Amino acid sequence: MATVFALANQKGGVGKTTTSVNLAAALAAQRQQVLLIDLDPQGNATSGSGVDKYELPQSIYHVLLGELAAQEAIQPKVPGGFDLIPANGDLTAAEVQLLDMAGKEFRLRDALAPLLAQYDYILIDCPPSLNMLTVNALAAATDVIVPIQCEYYALEGLSALLGTIEDIQASVNPELKIGGLLRTMFDPRNSLSNDVSTQLLTHFGEQVYRTIIPRNVRLAEAPSYGESIISYDRKSRGALSYLALAGEILRQSKAKRSA
Ligand code: ATP
Ligand code: MG
Repeated sequence: MATVFALANQKGGVGKTTTSVNLAAALAAQRQQVLLIDLDPQGNATSGSGVDKYELPQSIYHVLLGELAAQEAIQPKVPGGFDLIPANGDLTAAEVQLLDMAGKEFRLRDALAPLLAQYDYILIDCPPSLNMLTVNALAAATDVIVPIQCEYYALEGLSALLGTIEDIQASVNPELKIGGLLRTMFDPRNSLSNDVSTQLLTHFGEQVYRTIIPRNVRLAEAPSYGESIISYDRKSRGALSYLALAGEILRQSKAKRSA
């Protein structure tokens, strides 16, 4: 059964999409069967995976509205070695249309149910908001990964997100866990980076991934070539950090299975 990770933080530009695409590729490089779902109308995970978001025959939009089975929306084996259900601006309309639908929180969870057996990991890239799309992701997920940019105001908004996660646990998804808080764009020369990191460890301890994602320009370059960092520059610090994160997640999964 797949572990389903929602990558969520309503703060914009913290590394959700960068983590979604590169963690998907890093897990695939470890011979895991991985599905990445783009759940953001910006479609950044789609273009970052090398798929043209302006030329989509079908997308997660059609799946959420029940017009298409999730299986039919999969683009198999994109260049990063994982499968993708893409998204584009059409998804903005779904966010509104969902509000009038029965079981609106469960559209994604129910659509993904038939796919759980065929993947080791399903990653859901959320939009920068706590809207109905993010609620669908949190209802479908087993675990949330919260990327946190190690910079100014990093912790602002975190309590709103943790509150939403608690609400979801109390209502639609009691099994939901925090997979981990992930420090991104870390710059060891910047004292603020170190302060944020220390604060996170003090407040959240074991819930913080040991792996730290450094600020690395290669990570910012890769999406414009539609490539993951693993193929764009496998020896870069960015690639090594996402491979390390995949390793940490695989070890966690293994420990959980044998517990
Ligand atoms: P949004 O909230 O808009 O969806 P996001 O949380 O998905 O944003 P990203 O798109 O992953 O954030 O990252 C924001 C910007 O920072 C992008 O230009 C990305 O290339 C860059 N970036 C992300 N992580 C790193 C990193 N570790 N080093 C350098 N640049 C990074
Ligand atoms: Mg994004």
